[in-house]
Amino acid sequence: MNFKTSRSEALIVLEKYIDEDISNYTSQRNFDLGPHERKNISCLSPYITHRLISEFEVAKKVLSKHPYQRVEKFIQEIFWRVYWKGWLELRPKVWTDFVEDLKNIENSNDYKKAINGETNIDCFNDWIKELKENNYLHNHTRMWFASIWIFTLNLPWQKGAEFFLRELYDGDAASNTLSWRWVAGIQTKGKNYIAQNWNINKFTNNKYRDLKLNENPHPVIDQRDYKILPIKINDTEKKSNRLVFFENELDFKIFNTNNYKTIYCILLSNEERQVELGGKVLEYKKNLIKNQIQKSVLKIEFIGGNKFIELSNSEKNFDVIYPSVGENMSFLKRAIKKNNLMINYLTRDEDKYCWQFSNKGYFNFKSNIPKILSKFKLN
Ligand SMILES: Cc1cc2nc3c(=O)[nH]c(=O)nc-3n(C[C@H](O)[C@H](O)[C@H](O)COP(=O)(O)OP(=O)(O)OC[C@H]3O[C@@H](n4cnc5c(N)ncnc54)[C@H](O)[C@@H]3O)c2cc1C
Repeated sequence: MNFKTSRSEALIVLEKYIDEDISNYTSQRNFDLGPHERKNISCLSPYITHRLISEFEVAKKVLSKHPYQRVEKFIQEIFWRVYWKGWLELRPKVWTDFVEDLKNIENSNDYKKAINGETNIDCFNDWIKELKENNYLHNHTRMWFASIWIFTLNLPWQKGAEFFLRELYDGDAASNTLSWRWVAGIQTKGKNYIAQNWNINKFTNNKYRDLKLNENPHPVIDQRDYKILPIKINDTEKKSNRLVFFENELDFKIFNTNNYKTIYCILLSNEERQVELGGKVLEYKKNLIKNQIQKSVLKIEFIGGNKFIELSNSEKNFDVIYPSVGENMSFLKRAIKKNNLMINYLTRDEDKYCWQFSNKGYFNFKSNIPKILSKFKLN
């Protein structure tokens, strides 16, 4: 698999997918035919995760060429991501608890064997190799992988979520953490996702026959309840002469960026992260940023987290493109506290509008998709 590193290339991938392959999505999307056979899905997630292209832009382009009924499933999957982001925004403690949990879990020998692909489950070992090689796994495979990790290998879901974040090019705090919780049976309490041999065999075209999996597991129990908190994001008007954005909001041009004296793009190093990333993932992010900056007429400084802390010893006011709950936001919160910063967030109207519908389950969110599409003239 060959993931692109510039917006123009990502747009070509999107256009090609819409013109040539999207019509098979509903019937074929669940098949994982291997990394060389990916036409049944879009493989857009690394671009969408970094907002090189946004969910809304994808939806608009798709619906400019196809009637809603024919691409409904694809649009709904795009909005799964929006839903998860909103869900985490409303319950940010789920992220901070996940990070805290990790600090108290040892790297057991079974864990080390698993991440080295040394288990006695062939498909799992293959997926470890595939993930490390391509920094991507098919959605169905992510579900099987997580289920086997939790229920057959008896490993903590948090370590699996950490491993995915480290290796995936599309690693995202909301989609990843909440999907792992969903497989474990704590996102929808008591409903775990169980990987079954017949299902894996069917959707890999008979690749894996005699797997010994725990097909009767109980869901993971987690007593913690998360109350919905109001999203407190202040103004969206320009207030400072300094603009900051992170690597997960790379299409910064959609904001009014013209009148800033200085613009910084921050990529956190592993020392500045709570969940470390693999070398290839950091390199991928670096290349995305470099390409975006080079193509811009604006002068943008590419800095690390330490440099931002240093700058904010003297400068206290920044406009920041809202990075959403996750690693970048946690870093920012630490910086705000340390240096007493005044941050003014720039947000997308679409995000703020959609996130209000993440207060309940996806079924409820989904029923609002037509409203969202028409409000933002996406259809
Ligand atoms: C355990 C687990 C961990 C996951 N971790 C991540 C992650 O870190 N980052 C991430 O972007 N996705 C994650 N997903 C969701 C999903 O697997 C990927 O978004 C999808 O496989 C990306 O491939 P694609 O672009 O070809 O998707 P397509 O099927 O072509 O879908 C198009 C787009 O819709 C969105 N999307 C599709 N399915 C989902 C879904 N189930 N949840 C959220 N968004 C979805 C993605 O942005 C995707 O690019 C995870 C799923 C599971 C089960």
